[in-house]
Amino acid sequence: MSRLHCPFCGPRELREFRFHKTLPTEPGTAFAGIYERIDNPELSVEHWQHVEGCRGWLRVTRNPSSGAVLETRLLGGGVA
Ligand SMILES: [Zn+2]
Repeated sequence: MSRLHCPFCGPRELREFRFHKTLPTEPGTAFAGIYERIDNPELSVEHWQHVEGCRGWLRVTRNPSSGAVLETRLLGGGVA
């Protein structure tokens, strides 16, 4: 993963973005999401911010094993 596709700015270098956090991939309670979470090596849902661009917040779904970005969307918005 060396580039992310920002819905406003288009494909940009990864250094323009800042990682914020990893989200639970399985639905469940808030307790389970924090204390019982099992990391999936092939699926990670994360929040990133385009800090050197539009400063938009993104929800990025990717495969941590391969580095492939599966989906990028605005938080609360559409698919990029
Ligand atoms: Zn942007």
